[in-house]
Amino acid sequence: MLTEENRIVRDIAAAAPYDFICILVNDTRYGGGGIYNLYSTTYTNESVPGQEWQMDYMFVHEFGHSFAGLADEYYTSSTAYNDFYLPGIEPWEPNVTAQAEGGRVKWKSMLTAGIPVPTPWEKGAYDSVEAIRGKLDRLAPDYYRKREPLQKSAMEILRTSQYAGSVGVFEGAGYASKGLYRPSVDCRMFSLSLADFDPVCSAAIGRMIDFYADPGGK
Ligand SMILES: [Zn+2]
Repeated sequence: MLTEENRIVRDIAAAAPYDFICILVNDTRYGGGGIYNLYSTTYTNESVPGQEWQMDYMFVHEFGHSFAGLADEYYTSSTAYNDFYLPGIEPWEPNVTAQAEGGRVKWKSMLTAGIPVPTPWEKGAYDSVEAIRGKLDRLAPDYYRKREPLQKSAMEILRTSQYAGSVGVFEGAGYASKGLYRPSVDCRMFSLSLADFDPVCSAAIGRMIDFYADPGGK
């Protein structure tokens, strides 16, 4: 959910001083998008009772893309892209890597002391739940009723994972189940939930705030 009307967007935004554009879309259809240094979009009128949290998820997730250049860490969603990253090329975003060796991973300075790299997690169990979720028809009237228990078990797997809360090198990121790695078992860029940004993503956001607040780097 993006707009190609860049000139109109910039004309409207120019009515006020701004660093950054967030477009709020008055629509009930689930959706959003975020492009680094361009803008983010979020739907703002959730029509399914009990699912309003999805708008909060969306706004912050898309902000991560557009403000800090964060990558999607998920790989099981129906909105994932195929072959988004070329094999053998390190992604430019700060929170996804193709390097599974601790000494080469770009967030090596933030790795939790003593953590195994790559870092084991309950990927098999998580993937089984996500495979069932992926078969659901998003537009069916009972979609949310069917998704609810799957959502709960997926989040429980992440919450109780051995290295939950640690910074490591977890396989499965950037729309790829294998060969790409993320810094934390869960993050706002990984699960469809209200999970916080992990420390690597938070640091990237912090660097952008510093950049806007003090462009001279003093
Ligand atoms: Zn995303």
